[in-house]
Amino acid sequence: MRDRKPFVGGNWKMNTNRTTSAELTRGVVDALAPVTGTDIAIFPPFPYLLAVRSILRDRGSSIQLGAQDCYHKPDGAFTGEVSLDMLKDCGVQTVLAGHSERRHVLGEDDEIVNTKLRAIVEAGLTGVLCIGETLDQRESGHTDPVNQRQLRGGLADVSADALEKIVIAYEPVWAIGTGKTATPEDAQDVHAKLRKLLGQMYNADVAKRTRIIYGGSVKASNAEELFRQPDIDGGLIGGASLKAPEFAGIVKAAAATGSKG
Ligand code: PEP
Repeated sequence: MRDRKPFVGGNWKMNTNRTTSAELTRGVVDALAPVTGTDIAIFPPFPYLLAVRSILRDRGSSIQLGAQDCYHKPDGAFTGEVSLDMLKDCGVQTVLAGHSERRHVLGEDDEIVNTKLRAIVEAGLTGVLCIGETLDQRESGHTDPVNQRQLRGGLADVSADALEKIVIAYEPVWAIGTGKTATPEDAQDVHAKLRKLLGQMYNADVAKRTRIIYGGSVKASNAEELFRQPDIDGGLIGGASLKAPEFAGIVKAAAATGSKG
């Protein structure tokens, strides 16, 4: 049985420009050159994917190129959308599905997220399925049902084999970009419940080998205590991924905690 190697993703969101995306890529590559034992991905905005890929390739980096979103149709009259074939053509290896900003700002529901995730996996890419409750949902005691619904909805009609190519990101919406982080114990509690649910939806092997990462105001200073929790397998990082030394500190924390399983 395969161990769960840590996974750390840097979601740049709608930030950087042509100059700063290149600078940030070089900074991250240089800072992380000696780090092993962790899967690392960076998710630049679409217009900078090719330039970021060139830098990663020129420097022989193993950092994966990620996309923040995709459209599930292969081609056609879908103005403004970007297909998985286009992303593959640009060297993308990993794609986010259902980030909270896509759900709550841009109106994506579980059905759309599931359609995208299935398309990502069918394209042979790794999908990062993002789920998480809002502050209202947490305060009204609905954290578990919301995360269970999003996990079941996101993974509808996804086979056990396909889970090999899926990472689950638990990102409480109230912690994203707010500076508020779930306590390691609260995050661990949700992760353990999600893993248990994977066992019920699939089997014990899938539950044991699927990586469940945490996102929500992770910084170099709080990463290690989060990643030390037994069911937290790394992180999806927003704001702190825009500073190379800070992102590198988070990846090093993941590497220090090692694989689990
Ligand atoms: C995110 O964008 O997925 C995220 C977790 O953002 P931040 O780290 O800024 O909270």
